[in-house]
Amino acid sequence: MADVAAPAYRIIPIIPALKPGAMEGKGPFVANEKINEAIGFPGKMAENWQETHDAVIAKMGELLSKYRSLKVYMDACVHCGACSDKCHYFIGTQDPKNMPVARQDLMRSVYRRYFTLPGKLFPKLVGARDLTREVLDEWYNYFNQCSECRRCSVFCPYGIDTAEVTMAAREILDSVGYGQKYSNEIIGKVHRIGNNLGLPGPALQDTLEGLEEDVKDATGIDIRFPMDVKGAEVLLITPSADFFAEPHIDSLIGYAKVFHATGTSWTLSSMASEAGNFGMFIGNYEQLRKIALRIREAALELGVKRIVVGECGHAWRVAYSFWNTLTGVGDGADANDRFAQMLQKQLDHRYKQPTHICEFTWDMIQDERLSFDKSKNDKHIITFHDSCNVARGSRMGDFAGGQFEIPRNIIKAVANNYVEMRDGTTREQTFCCGGGGGLLTDDLIDLRVKGALPRMEVLQETVDVHGVNFMATICAICKAQFTKVMPIYGFDRRMVGGVHQLVSNAIILGDK
Ligand code: SF4
Ligand code: SF4
Repeated sequence: MADVAAPAYRIIPIIPALKPGAMEGKGPFVANEKINEAIGFPGKMAENWQETHDAVIAKMGELLSKYRSLKVYMDACVHCGACSDKCHYFIGTQDPKNMPVARQDLMRSVYRRYFTLPGKLFPKLVGARDLTREVLDEWYNYFNQCSECRRCSVFCPYGIDTAEVTMAAREILDSVGYGQKYSNEIIGKVHRIGNNLGLPGPALQDTLEGLEEDVKDATGIDIRFPMDVKGAEVLLITPSADFFAEPHIDSLIGYAKVFHATGTSWTLSSMASEAGNFGMFIGNYEQLRKIALRIREAALELGVKRIVVGECGHAWRVAYSFWNTLTGVGDGADANDRFAQMLQKQLDHRYKQPTHICEFTWDMIQDERLSFDKSKNDKHIITFHDSCNVARGSRMGDFAGGQFEIPRNIIKAVANNYVEMRDGTTREQTFCCGGGGGLLTDDLIDLRVKGALPRMEVLQETVDVHGVNFMATICAICKAQFTKVMPIYGFDRRMVGGVHQLVSNAIILGDK
């Protein structure tokens, strides 16, 4: 950590000068055989390059025929350059291969060589490249420097989604034993133990009991943090960081206070003690589904009526966009999947399934079932950081833009001082925190610090102009990333926290 320095702030807006090769060879650690094999991938690449070469091309062909969007993205780019300066990793590292269009071209050049006639006949003329070991290493390096945040796609006139290209590249790499250590190790932990942190059920139970005592000491009120309670109305699926990490745990306390104050019976599950789903980060449908199925199993076993998801950006995207077909939670459940249909019958369809905790709290505020002392947050001048997967990969509520308005509405209901960050850096144009998409690992700290630059610049501006001293967010990865990189930019790490941390500060307990 000591030799990691924050890049200098820029005069905004500015297109960075190019530093070719600046991030070459700076990808994350490669997963070892044990990690890969534990989740069903080949342990390592074949000794014989031709074997790997053929396997990569075959897998690419399979994905191109399975996902039509990928083929469209390979064909449609006109190299207009509209996306080139929109990626936080390009802005922070100045490496031209971190431009979204250049990142896509790493795959597009191989696609042209093996899957298009001009590329087969006149490779040089159409920018087609043979797949060599060096090209595959380049894929590994730069596709693991993309947080799959989708910001670039907002600016592309053709809607090309670099995140999907990255996911496809990572899936191909995993299929030949060239996976990334951090994500694959975490997926293994979820399969083995039930959460990203490898926290077993008894340890989790102890943690929750300790939390009950702490909250009782602080409030004088018995707030429960129940686990594995059959017949509870709500199953809360939340990121495992909420159970012990700072500031995440303060939001968990906030959820518990909301459930308490509204008289809602709820439970956590030791089997499904993780909202996060790194299957999405590595672009692998089977892993995505297997991880999500733990939640269905837990919901069926506990007999709950509602599933509520805690503050986690990519988890909400998976829940909102994919749980219906993966598990049977939500509309569109597979009619031939017996367990999906059982779950459909069990859940209470008067409510949105799944529900985000912000939707739950906002509904309760509108129904006047919660009351607040807003002055308890008066020490804070608050701004809100939209998290990529919520902003650009999901919705909330029953109106367009609900994912932007509902968290802001809650903050304004519980606090007096709220200001926005600069237009063009919030809502659908928000900048990634720099640690999403499976990059929240210390072996990528240099990339993470540089990738945080655009958000840090705008935050600094908001601090200078409005005196902001608290940045709220509803993503476990954003919270972990910001607490790590903000001190490097000279901010207090306690400046970042959850929306339900603010709810927790202001909620009036025991009057309903
Ligand atoms: S998806 Fe995000 S991280 Fe990836 S290239 Fe686009 S802007 Fe950069
Ligand atoms: S904005 Fe779209 S079409 Fe233009 S260079 Fe980027 S990906 Fe290609």
